[in-house]
Amino acid sequence: MADIARLSLNTATVRTQWSLAQCIDGCVRHGIGTIGPWRDKLRGLGTEQAAKMITGAGLKVSGLCRGGTVTASDKAARQAALDDTRKAGDEAVALSADCLVLVVGGLPDGSCDIAAARDQVNDGIGALLDHARACNLPLAIEPLHPMYAADRACVNTLAQANDICDDLGDGIGIAIDVYHLWWDPELKAEIARARGRILGFHVCDWLVPTRDLLVDRGMMGDGVIEIAKIRSWVEAAGYHGPIEVEIFSEGDWWRRDPDEVLKTMIARFESVV
Ligand code: ZN
Repeated sequence: MADIARLSLNTATVRTQWSLAQCIDGCVRHGIGTIGPWRDKLRGLGTEQAAKMITGAGLKVSGLCRGGTVTASDKAARQAALDDTRKAGDEAVALSADCLVLVVGGLPDGSCDIAAARDQVNDGIGALLDHARACNLPLAIEPLHPMYAADRACVNTLAQANDICDDLGDGIGIAIDVYHLWWDPELKAEIARARGRILGFHVCDWLVPTRDLLVDRGMMGDGVIEIAKIRSWVEAAGYHGPIEVEIFSEGDWWRRDPDEVLKTMIARFESVV
């Protein structure tokens, strides 16, 4: 089983219940040493104040979620998206985050051309790399499940993310989320191929049935993902960093007492992850 010291609370897991300040306090109370904030939570406090509170609480930051929506229908929108991701990069640096997680964007408005969208992703991330390298901030592409190809991310397999990293070179890596990648028959081989570029590892579970494409993720152990097996592949590929628990769950975990959520998360991390 995974070392509990690697557990990181991704703030999405208690998104509806807690502010960032409450998440920080919750981590301290429950003995969790690492946090993975979303930018929506950051806005409540401001980056500088958030960084102070996180450091003051003795917490580390795994990944900052998220930037990198680089697909857009025109040049101005693409530029605005790149600028926003650079800003997210500055926030990640201020927080001393391990990486900035990139969710690359789906089809631009009005487009049906997914190949063109994927070309935009390569170009867009390439355009971000100078800034990221100058800040010494690794960018982590997070491939999303293919059901999000149209509206959230047209990078849908680890193979695609590995190809982008091969193309673009230093400064770019990958966040592996079991929810998005568990089904892929090439997963084990592509994790091995990702050696040296794995920047984050996210866990939750795939419920059967999944009733909502976005906000019906399961607590580890309640679904069908072989999380410990995938973790062992990720470790065999050299990644021993934080493991973020990231659960979007409108009908269940977002309705519960957040302290109960954290207690369950810790117990399941110890028994399932
Ligand atoms: Zn994730």
